[in-house]
Amino acid sequence: MDLERHDYDVVVVGAGGAGLRAAIAAHEAGARTAVVCKSLLGKAHTVMAEGGIAAAMANLYPEDNWRVHFRDTMRGGKMLNHWRMAQLHAQEAPDRVRELEDWGALFDRTPEGLISQRDFGGHRYARLAHVGDRTGLELIRTLQQRTVALGIDVYMECTVTRLLTEGGGAGREGGITGAFGYWRESGRFVAWQAPSVVLATGGIGKAWKVTSNSWEYTGDGHSLALQAGASLVNMEFVQFHPTGMVWPPSVKGILVTESVRGDGGILKNSSGNRFMFDYIPDFFRKETAETEDEADRWYTDKKNNRRPPELLPRDEVARAINSEVKAGRGSPHGGVFLDIASRRDADYIRKRLPSMYHQFKELADVDITAEPMEVGPTCHYVMGGVEVDPDTEAARIPGLFAAGEVAGGMHGSNRLGGNSLSDLLVFGRRAGVAAAEHASKLSGARVEVAEEALADAGRAALAPFERDGGENPYAVQHDLQQTMNDLVGIIRTRSEIEQALERIEQLKVRVANLSVEGHRQYNPGWHLALDLPHMLLVSECVAKAALEREESRGGHTRDDFPAADAEWAKINLICERSPDGAVTVRRQPLPVMPHDLAEVFEELA
Ligand code: FAD
Repeated sequence: MDLERHDYDVVVVGAGGAGLRAAIAAHEAGARTAVVCKSLLGKAHTVMAEGGIAAAMANLYPEDNWRVHFRDTMRGGKMLNHWRMAQLHAQEAPDRVRELEDWGALFDRTPEGLISQRDFGGHRYARLAHVGDRTGLELIRTLQQRTVALGIDVYMECTVTRLLTEGGGAGREGGITGAFGYWRESGRFVAWQAPSVVLATGGIGKAWKVTSNSWEYTGDGHSLALQAGASLVNMEFVQFHPTGMVWPPSVKGILVTESVRGDGGILKNSSGNRFMFDYIPDFFRKETAETEDEADRWYTDKKNNRRPPELLPRDEVARAINSEVKAGRGSPHGGVFLDIASRRDADYIRKRLPSMYHQFKELADVDITAEPMEVGPTCHYVMGGVEVDPDTEAARIPGLFAAGEVAGGMHGSNRLGGNSLSDLLVFGRRAGVAAAEHASKLSGARVEVAEEALADAGRAALAPFERDGGENPYAVQHDLQQTMNDLVGIIRTRSEIEQALERIEQLKVRVANLSVEGHRQYNPGWHLALDLPHMLLVSECVAKAALEREESRGGHTRDDFPAADAEWAKINLICERSPDGAVTVRRQPLPVMPHDLAEVFEELA
């Protein structure tokens, strides 16, 4: 087999915020490090992040600190977060933001010259460090520049299709020995031998029809980890962002940043009612304004007023919008109205939300400084991911690490806005350090990649070319996306999830019979044929875990079990793949929070 080979200490799969931060940390720890990514460097999904990076820097509110951020994160996740991850995240995020600034990131400033921080749902204080509504771009630009300056090798437009483990193949036999993939442009194979691999491949949103996610989000890392013998946690929790574009159809799902609401935008139904006041759950009642006057006063006097209900955590707002539309009070195109035009002047809107202004002008011919937007829920983020050690991000397979959206545990059942970018920086760095340390411990005792494993990975990748007249990858993708959208979406029931699982079984047969035409040189149909098994595997995990959890919590709403259940509050669901390829779901008790941390919830009640 024609194969390009490389040898490293640490291979990072993914060049988003988590991957680049991990690569920098591994390199600085002395490891020979490479980054592999599907798209061009600088084009990872992180670049789309808009609102900001959550960190308790106390630039606007001196009373903010890591304990308040920890509390907000845990409450936002409905207490299912891994407490240790939430603690490390809250403690370390401010240093990671300052470090980014030291490396050249230009954040918006307060009048006093400090890094500006904006309001987002579920955060008690204005906490998101930002660059207009283009924060992800600045974060990636800064990390990318540093990666290049440090001389870290980057393999871009290169897809990893398999993790290599001791013992030869996908299995639990032993530790990581490397990764196998192909150049997207030429279709040629490439293998990296390395004792440490960091997965930083992002999310799974492309398994749904309406999503804010980019083409890269096909769940590769989740699936590669599972196939190598690692476990996934919290897969039933998928975040539907409340505000995606609903019109025109070609842009349905594209994100409308939460900053619109943070900066004063309000949600209205077709009768002009500010309906979020009807949907304040008891859990958040104490800290949410009761009247429109109080909510409006909060924007100028946060100390003496409570937050507007539009800034409740995302799961609450998404469900409320869904209910309004279902009750027949939606906008003409099946969403609700998000209005900032009547509340802020045009200059303010254009300055604070430049991308939103252009997005609506260009894609929907709507001037958001003059008229309301139409918005509705869109699949946005997966809370579930590779089960990792909170301090090192090590997965169950020795040498495998995961950070960023592909890792699970940090956000529990629902992520707060802004907590992803900080998660990437905090845990990306930790994963890079731990991966380098693992590699250095193994130096001299390295296991060669088995030739048969490489040949097998090559055969599997080329199989779609060998089948004539099989299934078309685009048709299968369409059917999978429709299934997940209709049957494992924002509101779920047992019968619908069971129906989804039946369809997933049928799709498995079709995926095993995918065929593509043409050559290996830049062939999008072939690329999709290789992505589809990943999408299908993660969809199965989401559906099976969603069926098992008979309650509603965060990003998992069961119409047949509408309330949160105290017993389920103590349980995580773990997905594993048995040697015959079946996905199993098992219950695991939540890690117990130490007493001094538990006290935070009483102190800050
Ligand atoms: P990504 O940035 O997605 O990077 C994944 C990388 O993995 C890419 O380089 C990709 O090419 C690579 N990859 C994937 N599969 C393979 C493979 N098989 N082989 C090789 N490479 C592979 N969060 C916030 O905190 N604040 C915000 O303001 C915010 N705004 C957002 C706005 C939008 C529109 C969206 C969609 C999300 C937003 N989020 C925000 C969420 C946040 O952007 C993501 O969760 C985060 O960027 C994920 O980063 P990551 O490093 O884990 O993955």
